[in-house]
Amino acid sequence: MRLREAAAATRLAAAPRVPYHLPVAREAASARFRSMHALSRATALSLLLLAGLCAAPARAQDRCAGKLGTSRTLAVDASGGLHVGTKHFPDTLALEDGEVVLTFDDGPFPATTPKVLKALADECVKATFFVIGRNAAAHPALLKRELAEGHTVGHHSMTHPMTLADIPYDKAVADIEQGLRADEKAAYGTVAARPRVPFFRFPGFGSSPELLAYLDRRGIAVFGADLWASDWDKQTPEHQLALVMERLDHARKGIILFHDTRAQTVAMLPAFLQKLKEGGYRVVHVAPATAVAAAPAQP
Ligand SMILES: [Zn+2]
Repeated sequence: MRLREAAAATRLAAAPRVPYHLPVAREAASARFRSMHALSRATALSLLLLAGLCAAPARAQDRCAGKLGTSRTLAVDASGGLHVGTKHFPDTLALEDGEVVLTFDDGPFPATTPKVLKALADECVKATFFVIGRNAAAHPALLKRELAEGHTVGHHSMTHPMTLADIPYDKAVADIEQGLRADEKAAYGTVAARPRVPFFRFPGFGSSPELLAYLDRRGIAVFGADLWASDWDKQTPEHQLALVMERLDHARKGIILFHDTRAQTVAMLPAFLQKLKEGGYRVVHVAPATAVAAAPAQP
């Protein structure tokens, strides 16, 4: 445990400047990374692995033949609290060598999100979108499309403050809750007491022990990341592709952070998915354990 913590601390110190992104966030990036090493792994981690392929209807199998595809669904049980992503936490999802989870933050955004959805659909890949409540309320049809196409829609606050850890606790909680309600309303038309998808990512990864404890009590999993494309930095799609593949080839697996609001990410995504296929990587889809358990049995 001590070694793991030391490694996490090293990663923390070495982390590049925090991602922050328009279209709604204009705050200067002054992220405060807060390590959560005191958390008990035993209570924080509660993952249920569903191994194997989900059987798909024959038509979908035909359509996805030869594509990258989604290799399996990983059901995530957030009921006891969960913090994953080794950039900021000691632990991450139970992924095997070569397995990646694709995540996209800050949408939905009409200029770019549909192109991301098309690139994913072209390769039969499922991803997770951490959406900003304000954007979800403005573009509910895009949110519904993400759901209809089988993706997971998680939460990323209402206004994307930079960071929630730097504003008063009550205001931070209010922003989180407003975001949850806005996302739920836009996606499903009604607001559940506990979000249907209890997954949250802090804007700029700016968490605090108090806010993490709050989300634990709410039974909401906190997603960090294991690697990223640094797509908040302006760079060519080619450079960004080379950068993220270099990092992935080194890490070999993990939760990857992108932004579906970034044109350079849109531009590189088809080539990135090809690289995953060529490299033998497998895409894992994350979903709430309750939703997976409630899904009808496949033939
Ligand atoms: Zn963000």
